[in-house]
Amino acid sequence: MVRGKQKEQAREKAQKLAENRAGGKSQLEARSKGLQMKCPVCKTPAANYKVIVQHMEAKHPKQAIPPESSF
Ligand SMILES: [Zn+2]
Repeated sequence: MVRGKQKEQAREKAQKLAENRAGGKSQLEARSKGLQMKCPVCKTPAANYKVIVQHMEAKHPKQAIPPESSF
């Protein structure tokens, strides 16, 4: 059980590291307001719903695009 929790924490840590690597910390802070949406399939951050729709049509054409209200 403890191991399971550690694994979870390690996963979160790795995810944060990956996010920092992707954007850089200062850049991430500056853009954090504009990048609150994420692709529900691959978690790519997007500035707004329009970008999500375009991204999904291009990258995940077989996935249903969730409504804007679900973000
Ligand atoms: Zn995606």
